[in-house]
Amino acid sequence: MHLVMIGGSDAGISAALRARELDPGADVTVVVADAYPNFSICGIPYYLSGEVARWQNLAHRTIADLEAAGMWLRLDTTARRVDVPAHKLLITPADGREELLGYDKLIVGTGAVPVRPPIGGLDGPDALGPGDGVHLLHSMGDTFAVMRTLEQAAPASAVIVGAGYIGLEMADALTVRGLAVTQMEQLPEVLPTVDPQLGALVHAELAAHGVEVLPSTTVQAVTRNTSGQPGRLHVHATAADGTAVTRAADMVLVVVGVRPDTALAAEAGATLGVKGAIAVDTAMRTNLPGVFAAGDCVVTHHRLLGQTYLPLGTTAHKQGRVAGENALGGNRQFAGSLGTQVVKIFDQAAARTGLRDHEAQPAGFDPVTIESQADDHKAYYPGSHKITMRVTGDRPTGRLLGMQLFGHKNAEIAKRVDIAATAIFNGMTVDAVSDLDLSYTPPLGSPWEAVQMGAQAWVRATQRL
Ligand SMILES: Cc1cc2nc3c(=O)[nH]c(=O)nc-3n(C[C@H](O)[C@H](O)[C@H](O)COP(=O)(O)OP(=O)(O)OC[C@H]3O[C@@H](n4cnc5c(N)ncnc54)[C@H](O)[C@@H]3O)c2cc1C
Repeated sequence: MHLVMIGGSDAGISAALRARELDPGADVTVVVADAYPNFSICGIPYYLSGEVARWQNLAHRTIADLEAAGMWLRLDTTARRVDVPAHKLLITPADGREELLGYDKLIVGTGAVPVRPPIGGLDGPDALGPGDGVHLLHSMGDTFAVMRTLEQAAPASAVIVGAGYIGLEMADALTVRGLAVTQMEQLPEVLPTVDPQLGALVHAELAAHGVEVLPSTTVQAVTRNTSGQPGRLHVHATAADGTAVTRAADMVLVVVGVRPDTALAAEAGATLGVKGAIAVDTAMRTNLPGVFAAGDCVVTHHRLLGQTYLPLGTTAHKQGRVAGENALGGNRQFAGSLGTQVVKIFDQAAARTGLRDHEAQPAGFDPVTIESQADDHKAYYPGSHKITMRVTGDRPTGRLLGMQLFGHKNAEIAKRVDIAATAIFNGMTVDAVSDLDLSYTPPLGSPWEAVQMGAQAWVRATQRL
C-alpha cells in the first residue's frame, strides 16, 4: 500500500504519522512544497517577537524524527496535477523536472493561503512586497521575509491590517520587539470571533500596551512615503463616517484571514463546498475515488452547525489522523468541530467555543447569552484574577451552546474554555455543568469552578426571563 500525502503541515503529517502507527509496513510519501515539514506555524508570532529564539525551535518534529517514523519526505517538491483514474501524481522537485508518482491512496492537505484583500498597492506590476516592508503571513517563507525586514530595515513602526487572532498576536509580538503598532480593522471591534463586549476588553488591553487601535477603519491603499518624513510607507484608510485616515509606518502586515488552497484538487475534479473548500464526508473522503483530504483545504463538519469552514490547527490534526487511518482501510469518523480557540494578547487571553447568538439562531436554536464574572481562584490567595464569561444556552432546552471567556493569561482561560467545549461536545445542559466534579484548592480554584459560576449565572438569569 503506497499512501501519498500532499502537504507537510498539520494535516499531511498527522495523516502520515497515523498511517505509519497503524501499519509500520505502509509505504508513506509526503510531498511538501517547501523545506519546512511539520513546523508549528501557530508559533510564528513568538519567533517574530523574539520570545522563541530560533526558527528551528518551531518544528513539532525534526526531519530526522519524521524520517525515523518511516515516512519518505519529498521536500521542495510541488504537486502539480492528479490523474485520478491512473492513480498518479505529477510532481516537480526543486530542479524543475517533472516526475510521476504512483499512489494507492492520496491525501490532500494543501491547507490555506492568506487572503490578499483588494487594497491598492498589493497587486499589479508595481505591487509593494516584502522588500518594501509589506507582508502577508502564513508560511515559514513569509516568516523569514518578515524577519529580514525586522532585522535589516530596523522598522520603528508598523501598521497591522486586520484584528483577528493572528493580527492581535502580531500586535503583541511587534510591540514586544519595540515597534510602535497601529492596528486597523474594518469591523466595529477587534477580535470579531467573540462578542463585542469581550472584544472591547481585548481592545483595552491593546491600548494599555500602547497599540493604536482603529476599528471601523477600512484600508484602501498602501503607498511609498516620498515625503521625507519618518515611515517609508503610507497606509490610506477610511473611517466608518467617511473620514480619511492616513498613517505612516516602516512596515505593513496584512493579516485578514485565509482561503482554502484547492486549485489542485478542484482541477482533478473534486467537488467544492462551503467557502470553496474541498467537500469531504466525516471519513475525510472526497468525491474522487481513492482521494481523501484534510485540514484548512476542506469544509469543516461542526457539531452544532453541520457544514461550515473553520480552519484551525487543532482541527487539521484530527482530520489528518482520520484521513490517515481511513486511507489504510479504516472507518474512523471526524467527530466534528466546535470552533474552540484561544488567543493571548499581552497579559490577557480570550477564548471561545461553540456558538454565539447570531450563529445559534439560524441553526434553529433560541439562544440567550448571559455575562458574568468570577475569580480564577480564591481571592484571598495572592494573584487572583477576575474572569469575564459569556455563556450561551438554548432557552427551551437549557442546552449549553457556547462559552466565551476573557481574563489574565495565568487564569487558565484555555483550559476553562476546554471544560465548556467538553460539555457542549457531550450535549450537556448549562445546568448540568454545575454537577461536574471539578478540582479545587484555594491557590488554583474555588469550590465552585469559575465556569460553573458562569453556568449558574445563566440558569439564574434565564429562570427570571
Ligand atoms: C500565524 C498563525 C498562527 C496560528 N495560530 C493558531 C493557533 O493558535 N491555534 C490553531 O488552532 N490554529 C492556528 N493557526 C492555524 C493553523 O496553523 C492551521 O489551521 C494549520 O496549519 C492548517 O494545517 P494544514 O496542514 O491544513 O495546512 P497548512 O498549514 O496551510 O499547510 C499546507 C501544506 O501544504 C503544502 N502544499 C500546498 N500546496 C502544495 C502543493 N501543490 N504541493 C506540495 N505541497 C503543497 C504547504 O507547503 C504546506 O506544507 C495559525 C496560523 C497562522 C498562520
